[in-house]
Amino acid sequence: DDDPRIHGIKSKIRVVPNFPKPDIMFQDITTLLLDPEAFKDTIDLFVERYRGKNISVVAGIEARGFIFGPPIALAIGAKFVPLRKPKKLPGDVIREEYVLEYGRDCLEMHLGAVKPGERALVVDDLIATGGTLCAAMNLLERAEAEVVECACVIELPDLKGRERLKGKPLYVLVESH
Ligand code: AMP
Repeated sequence: DDDPRIHGIKSKIRVVPNFPKPDIMFQDITTLLLDPEAFKDTIDLFVERYRGKNISVVAGIEARGFIFGPPIALAIGAKFVPLRKPKKLPGDVIREEYVLEYGRDCLEMHLGAVKPGERALVVDDLIATGGTLCAAMNLLERAEAEVVECACVIELPDLKGRERLKGKPLYVLVESH
């Protein structure tokens, strides 16, 4: 994208080599949050894209999807649904397990949080392999919601996670190689 706000956003994301383990280039969005203008620009870009699209659900992925999802949801008049790591949600849940580089992980969603036919946006900070977003989309589809799009601040395009998103579109603000 050539929106002038994108350059400011990208400049505020700190890249930390070898965190949390060797050979990972960690994309740290906490430095973006420290800059009110860049943080606002981030939310505004998503809101401008999704306002008026009849989206009634913003589903945010624990933990950093909980930072970007709620302000988007409030601005477009949608509900916010947290997709959480196992055993955090107190009510009845549906669960999706997914494979990580080392081991497995899992996301849960409260049963009944989303109604059949609702139009949903899935939000996280970053897409790497796409496994996390794929699990999130599976939860929404099992609840018979329609996933309109996935939205992330950052994409690592070399990992081709976009290809795992079940043919649904992905919108990102910044690419990192
Ligand atoms: P994946 O399921 O492989 O697409 O990984 C995406 C999830 O892992 C997101 O929730 C990210 O917050 C986190 N993640 C993966 N790689 C990175 C990275 N290089 N920097 C920051 N977060 C990452």
